[in-house]
Amino acid sequence: LRDTATQKLISPRYSRNVWFTDRNENIALSIRHKGDRIFYEKSPYQSVEIFDTFEYGKMLTVDKMVMCSEKDEKAYHEMIIHVPMLVQPDIRNVLVIGGGDGGSVREILKHEQVESVTMVEIDEAVVRASREYLPTLSAALDDPKLELIIGDGIDFVRQAPDETYDLIVVDSSDPVGPSEGLFSQAFYQDVYRCLRPGGVMTAQSESPRFNQRAFVELNHCLKDIFGVASVHCYLAFIPTYPTGMWGFSFCAKGDRHPVQDLESDRAAQFATAHNLQYYNAGIHQAAFCLPTAIDQMLNG
Ligand code: SAM
Repeated sequence: LRDTATQKLISPRYSRNVWFTDRNENIALSIRHKGDRIFYEKSPYQSVEIFDTFEYGKMLTVDKMVMCSEKDEKAYHEMIIHVPMLVQPDIRNVLVIGGGDGGSVREILKHEQVESVTMVEIDEAVVRASREYLPTLSAALDDPKLELIIGDGIDFVRQAPDETYDLIVVDSSDPVGPSEGLFSQAFYQDVYRCLRPGGVMTAQSESPRFNQRAFVELNHCLKDIFGVASVHCYLAFIPTYPTGMWGFSFCAKGDRHPVQDLESDRAAQFATAHNLQYYNAGIHQAAFCLPTAIDQMLNG
């Protein structure tokens, strides 16, 4: 048996069928890995695991849900960060909630005007596992512009001063366990209050097919808080998340529009200069064109 990615012979120890499965009641996505998990910890919040997979490199999971993988993470992190940052070029102070693997911070720091990033991750085990096994993501966690706080993002925004951040990124896991409150109205009211006027917020907003209820409810909740005209859903293709179709929400405190206010030449130059692997100016614009059925799910 050969590894399909490298064509190297697979040791017999790896040749048994070992699959990680991310599932809900009706849908499952399985990814084959090379044997025993290489990291496991039952933290006070959740179970944190890392597997070495054949197709996607090392893969971080939390409570049996895929968070990111070495080969596939660029789509998620480039889209959650560069979409807001290339629409609002004056972003200097950023808050990230969750995001313990470091991928979002890595992308934020590609924008030289950024002065400070605060990241609030509840689970120190996620950060430790990522530092040890996912260095291409976690290297950014040592950047001097970053203040890394291990704590609850919900408490943090509740206590944060008004109008502090130019960009808030909610890089959360799915709405179970410690993440549940990151999908609540009270949390987003605090997020709105902490944003400076003209600031923007992006959140991962689940899959319209795998987690339809959370996807629809979160988008309705955001429209109640930011206003219908200031919330825009966009999609990206992420093969390691069940169904591959993932939603994000762009919310503006003000009237900034994620497509009309994009300077596409600047976005194209940025994508080339940083050798981005998923984001480009065309994808940015196309991502906001929703399939009709998804549009009706949100607005119908
Ligand atoms: N890309 C991922 C996805 O959509 O599946 C998200 C990855 S990131 C690792 C999510 C992080 O949010 C986890 O590390 C989790 O510990 C963190 N998290 C969950 N609830 C939190 C809370 N209340 N405050 C801060 N961080 C939280």
